[in-house]
Amino acid sequence: MTSILQTLSCADNYDPNSLHVDRARELILDLLNPVVGHERVFVRQALDRVLAEDVISPIDVPSHDNSAMDGWALRFDDLAGSDETAGETRLTNIGTAFAGRAFEGKVGAGETVRIMTGAILPQGVDCVVIQEVTRVEGDAVIIPPGQRRDQNTRRAGEDLQAGRPAIPAGKKLRPAEIGIIASLGIGEVSVRRRVRVALFSTGDELCSIGAPLTEGAVYDSNRYTLWGMLTRLGCDVIDMGVVRDDPAALEAAFREAAGCADAIITSGGVSVGEADFIKQLMTQLGEVAFWKIAMKPGRPMAFGRIGKTQPDGAEGSGAWLFGLPGNPVAVMVTFYQFVRPAILKLAGLDPVPPFPAFPARCVEAMKKGRGRTEFQRGILFQENGEWCVRPTGAQGSGVLRSMADADCFIVLEHEREKVGAGDTVMVQLMNGLV
Ligand code: AMP
Ligand code: MG
Repeated sequence: MTSILQTLSCADNYDPNSLHVDRARELILDLLNPVVGHERVFVRQALDRVLAEDVISPIDVPSHDNSAMDGWALRFDDLAGSDETAGETRLTNIGTAFAGRAFEGKVGAGETVRIMTGAILPQGVDCVVIQEVTRVEGDAVIIPPGQRRDQNTRRAGEDLQAGRPAIPAGKKLRPAEIGIIASLGIGEVSVRRRVRVALFSTGDELCSIGAPLTEGAVYDSNRYTLWGMLTRLGCDVIDMGVVRDDPAALEAAFREAAGCADAIITSGGVSVGEADFIKQLMTQLGEVAFWKIAMKPGRPMAFGRIGKTQPDGAEGSGAWLFGLPGNPVAVMVTFYQFVRPAILKLAGLDPVPPFPAFPARCVEAMKKGRGRTEFQRGILFQENGEWCVRPTGAQGSGVLRSMADADCFIVLEHEREKVGAGDTVMVQLMNGLV
């Protein structure tokens, strides 16, 4: 079995001391496999879960040819002609077809049946004319010219065909998929088990809610943002609290986390001042690469595995480690750029969806360091039908309010040098997704 560190060091464009954001994401995704384990759940419980096996349609949907409109069901060949210059056609009304109550007879030459949306097309019918364009004179129905064969009809199986996959494995089940499952009369589906993620914060300066803030201390916020981000992704979160900057306490925490989780997320302790201390420990307990990612914020990050190293997703075989930086904005940015896609892959989503990104006009000038990707926090708005973005203000990696105010990341690409007011920038949409 090849080790993770070997795999990484043999990869193209791998420079742990200046790793391109996109490359770091690819390397992580290449190493990960979905967790193993399914469970059967009722259709409503399947919302937001990842489908583990294709849903095969047991029936045609719709199960019969039916009308798409309220109107008159008839035989197209009975009409005087299809083009607008042909005359009107006079047909005899012989009955009604309701949704759920079919017209039992056959529509013969010169006959028509009043039909409702969803009603089975009576035998012989191949055209429905909407009622609004027709006239009724006693038993006679007058149909204007200009109709087409098959118009306003829905064919059996035009939505889903019996025996064919209706929803492929790997899809996240949204309301549309939940509805499709119900439309097939299926009450239970097989979904992937949730990804289990253990997290803890490191730092002697961290103070927990409920305790008074002592001098030089900060309340631990990262555990809460991480909990929120992971919960939104549908993970089972194991919150292990704050772990002191102490080798024995950290080692115990890592061992416990690796024993019960698919992934471990830590915050703090990977910056230059502390790297050696944690590095030693992480190296001792597993296979961990220490990266300096060419990005701002979020430069230092540790990635690898703690515990046994087979990356097969089997339970008890260790856990993936994401050692995130301590600064609150850096935590969120690195989470969204690296951990989010990784969790989605572990969860079995196929393909792993990126954030939607699109160009917008930046209304303020921005400074940009060369040779790194920057993730500024932005607010989108529309002006004269065009999408525009402005930065949220102070962009320090400790200013969590910049994330709270933002609805998108303004992504300043690796090679980009600066942004002038009015320049086009790429934005990654967060609204509704995070
Ligand atoms: P570190 O990466 O451990 O050097 O931490 C960098 C900065 O982030 C320091 O100012 C820390 O106080 C702050 N920080 C680290 N962990 C947390 C946390 N869990 N909550 C809030 N701030 C933190
Ligand atoms: Mg620290």
